[in-house]
Amino acid sequence: MRNYEDTYQHKGLRKNLVEVLKQKGITDNKVLDAVNAIPRHYFLDSAFDKIAYEDRAFPIDEGQTISQPYTVAYQTQLLQPKRTDKVLEIGTGSVYQACVLAEIGCRVYTIERQKKLFEKNKSFFFKQKYPNIKFFYGDGFEGLTAYAPFDKIIITAAAPFIPPRLVDQLKSGGLMIIPLDEGESQRMLRITKQDNGGYTEEYFDYFSFVPMLHGKNN
Ligand code: SAH
Repeated sequence: MRNYEDTYQHKGLRKNLVEVLKQKGITDNKVLDAVNAIPRHYFLDSAFDKIAYEDRAFPIDEGQTISQPYTVAYQTQLLQPKRTDKVLEIGTGSVYQACVLAEIGCRVYTIERQKKLFEKNKSFFFKQKYPNIKFFYGDGFEGLTAYAPFDKIIITAAAPFIPPRLVDQLKSGGLMIIPLDEGESQRMLRITKQDNGGYTEEYFDYFSFVPMLHGKNN
């Protein structure tokens, strides 16, 4: 059981986390404000309460992880989110990343391939606070054709290649952030969709993600 209480101690730890993120190079105030606003300990088992604001990843159900705050902030900053942007997220996981985008004001469409994680999120405690998050059970490689095109796409698992169907679902001028699989670690890639349907690529730092897998898992 989890007690949804956001104490002064939690708030203080969160302020410290924001300072850590600034020191590591996160400069976008929208991103820093969102991290400061969201009680990350709500997304974790109560056993992690005291350490929820350390800058590290933690296990959630089904052998998956909630990404490290620095990684979430880094990807979100590269995405250059704006209010009312329509954003597709691949890998709902704990919903923390989706909440960061929703807090900024984006309309978030998030896909998860693990049935149990998807089912769990049906009773997600921030449903009313963030009505701008829509949950889908499916294979992220396919995207969401029915809701395309998107202003931005963010992949939060290690992608073995740039998923072509996601490129198709990106608006012209839109951005997609992809932790691109290079073996042990992934290189963060940002692509910008061009008017002719092609894209340009920019490469950033190395990170470590769980794999983006094909198909759905019951
Ligand atoms: N954004 C999440 C990070 C979760 S880890 C958070 O903030 O907590 C990555 C998630 O991607 C896992 O839950 C995993 O099940 C999911 N995933 C992996 N491959 C996928 C795919 N093809 N489609 C949708 N989700 C996928």
